[in-house]
Amino acid sequence: MRGPVIENYDQNFDNWNGAIAYLDRDGVLNYGSPNYINSPEELNIIDGVKESILSLRKLGYKIVIVTNQSAIMRGLWDEKQLKLIHQKLIEEIGHIEAIITCPHRNRDGCNCRKPKPGMLFAGSNLLRGASHEDVNWFADKPVPINELDLMVGDRNSDMGAGWAVGARLFQVNEHLGLPSVINRIIEGDEGDDFSPV
Ligand SMILES: [Mg+2]
Repeated sequence: MRGPVIENYDQNFDNWNGAIAYLDRDGVLNYGSPNYINSPEELNIIDGVKESILSLRKLGYKIVIVTNQSAIMRGLWDEKQLKLIHQKLIEEIGHIEAIITCPHRNRDGCNCRKPKPGMLFAGSNLLRGASHEDVNWFADKPVPINELDLMVGDRNSDMGAGWAVGARLFQVNEHLGLPSVINRIIEGDEGDDFSPV
């Protein structure tokens, strides 16, 4: 089976604190749609997102967007279209390190579609050559690769994927997105917005 689509940008970042901010796309950076975002024209950035990304970078975070886009395996459009959409995204939100996209449907049984953590594993491996896959969660005191890692998403599936890598979890309303939690992140909130039990 094909893996996730990885778009990797320049990773030079002097101020990196070693942590990764995993951000869902639709409902966090741009307004979502029940019928997918199918073109650059349909991509509308939520007010304040660019400034919030800058705030994350001032804190020292590298940024990895992790997004489920099953429209690809449904045959609605292809990776070329995905890249056009993401070209506009980058133009509007500024520099980030990577965008990782799961193209699959539930029935494809992949390892990357959230709530599975495959895209977060891939992002960690890409940026620091170490994957959360290798963390021994059954050790006496399991520690994630970086305790400052965080996941921001609007759905429980985002929280599930973040939970699986020990990230701090911030769940947002799909109309308010990242700007609605940026102050909590800056203030060092543990980010405990989801519990699987
Ligand atoms: Mg979303």
